[in-house]
Amino acid sequence: MSYPDTLLFIDGQWQAASDGRTLDVLNPATGQVIGTVAHAGQPELAQALAAARRGFAVWSATPAFARYQIMRRAAALLRKRAEEAATCMSLEQGKPVAEARAEMAAAADIIDWMAEEGRRAYGRLVPARLMGVTQSVIRTPVGPVAAFCPWNFPVNQVVRKVSAALATGCSIIVKAPEETPASPAMLIRAFADAGVPAGVIGLVYGTPAEISETLIADDIIRKVTFTGSTAVGKILASLAGAHMKRVTMELGGHGPVIVTADADITRAVSLLAAAKIRNAGQVCVSPTRFLIEKGVFKEFRAAYVAHMQALVVGNGQRPGTQMGPLVSQRRLEAVEALVNEARDRGAKVETGGMRLAGPGYFYAPTVLTGLTADMRIMNEEPFGPISLLCPFDTLEDAIAEANRLPYGLAAYAFTGAGGVAARLRDTVRTGMLTINHIGLSLPEIPFGGIGDSGYGSEGGSEALDAYLDTRLVTSMDYI
Ligand code: NAD
Repeated sequence: MSYPDTLLFIDGQWQAASDGRTLDVLNPATGQVIGTVAHAGQPELAQALAAARRGFAVWSATPAFARYQIMRRAAALLRKRAEEAATCMSLEQGKPVAEARAEMAAAADIIDWMAEEGRRAYGRLVPARLMGVTQSVIRTPVGPVAAFCPWNFPVNQVVRKVSAALATGCSIIVKAPEETPASPAMLIRAFADAGVPAGVIGLVYGTPAEISETLIADDIIRKVTFTGSTAVGKILASLAGAHMKRVTMELGGHGPVIVTADADITRAVSLLAAAKIRNAGQVCVSPTRFLIEKGVFKEFRAAYVAHMQALVVGNGQRPGTQMGPLVSQRRLEAVEALVNEARDRGAKVETGGMRLAGPGYFYAPTVLTGLTADMRIMNEEPFGPISLLCPFDTLEDAIAEANRLPYGLAAYAFTGAGGVAARLRDTVRTGMLTINHIGLSLPEIPFGGIGDSGYGSEGGSEALDAYLDTRLVTSMDYI
């Protein structure tokens, strides 16, 4: 399949930048240029803002049921076009086609669920202190939204934001990832073809800082949503704060995993290894710091390393590939620097620890032991196929290590004891904790972090709350 060049989508039209500027798109499995994406400048951003204002007027006045019908049509179109979009996503992002297919299927499910939930964005009546008074709590769309989405899940990160905005009656301008532009454009095309009116969704690419500074500062935008690194999140949150805009931030993590000696080790290893290797570890909820009770450390390490060594790593387009490349040269260098620093400071490389020979941005699945808390890799999100294995003596030690970092996104635990599970529920400080299975990221459950991992949720009914204002109308209807 040939890879398409990607245009901007503004006011219902697919268009190039007025100055014709484009950026190259690379295939991370080969390092070759495979296409281009249009680079928006100030004229296109101004156009997108004006369109979002008009789009909001139209869409917020469209009944919830009509919005739901259009969204359901978009989900159906997306399912029909999933194979083409999955191939594109694998080409531009590097992930195996099977993972890209799963992402497309999940995207359609997210649209369906948000569409349904939009029909249930209820207000309420609060009993009044006086006869004749009606106190109505009503919920109305916050306004045009600016969304900033990363390259690791090119469709999933966009669909969560667009679906929640559309379900609640907001318009939205998406800055989708320049590294992986074609598959999110296919998502937006499905919404447009399903009948979402002009101006309700805008899609731009360009220089991230220029776009965020322009959109967030503009009066038209009333809400900001960002997925990406904590460092960039802090910049965008302060910009939004300066302009009093509502904010959702889905930021980085450093996923702690606690495995106690009475856990089913075979099951824990196979589930955790699969979770680690998904998208070559470029997942904000990726399990990273594996805290293993001392008595089973050797057994866990041996089985886990064997899993990593048996993986088929290669071009995501090739059937049977289990792990593809990292997304870019920049990410390859970042992962390499973290591993090298740990090794230089005494960490042991149990397997991997190097780039793979040949073209593309491949890094071997890597397991490190002999780690200390002062190593950078124990503090910074590796965002790659890196597993850090650390033995622990007591559950208190494991909980203290799990909570040591300012991040608080996802945590994992495998244990045979219900009491331990309950204790972890009460003491591990993360937005999400999954015990004895991997159960994150479904449309109907909350998804989000605490602490330096951000705030707000992109799943569950909470995802819609973020796009709604709560307002009170109190009226004395008779005296
Ligand atoms: P980065 O910090 O340069 O960029 C992260 C994302 O933010 C990218 O999508 C980028 O386009 C965007 N961005 C950067 N500056 C911006 C700005 N001023 N305004 C608006 N958007 C901006 O990092 P990177 O090298 O692309 O990715 C590496 C790090 O990013 C990882 O270590 C990880 O912590 C984080 N990340 C997290 C997620 C996630 O799902 N939470 C996804 C991708 C990347």
